[in-house]
Amino acid sequence: MNAVATKPPPENSLNERLAHSGLRLTPQRQQVHEVLREKMDHPTADQVFMRAKSKMPEISMATVYNCLDALVTCGLVRQVTLDRGATRYCPNMQDHSHFYCDECGSVYDILQTISPEEAHIKLPRGFRLKLIETNLHGLCPDCAAKTK
Ligand SMILES: [Zn+2]
Ligand SMILES: [Zn+2]
Repeated sequence: MNAVATKPPPENSLNERLAHSGLRLTPQRQQVHEVLREKMDHPTADQVFMRAKSKMPEISMATVYNCLDALVTCGLVRQVTLDRGATRYCPNMQDHSHFYCDECGSVYDILQTISPEEAHIKLPRGFRLKLIETNLHGLCPDCAAKTK
């Protein structure tokens, strides 16, 4: 498995994707999308709100939730749920796993390299496997260096 440094789709696809789901491109939706792309550290809705607010002081928490919902609906952002804690948002739509640092709580994208064919998982009859999404736990490079 390799760490990914992939870029999310270009900004001009935002309008198209929203339109495809029957949604309008609003300055708020654009702002929230930008916040997520700017720093791909899987922020919570609260963190997205704080960052969006610093650039768009009039934006409300309810609007941020609405924007996040719209982006999830049109497939530009996905929700990441940890075992504990708030839902986080990830703009990387490639198949990937998440590495959770148990020390500082950071979440990193790890390129998914196990294909269902390779995994040799014996499924009961009738099941069709499409994606294996694993949650990895450990220490990020910063925390690993501190606990040497
Ligand atoms: Zn860490
Ligand atoms: Zn991610």
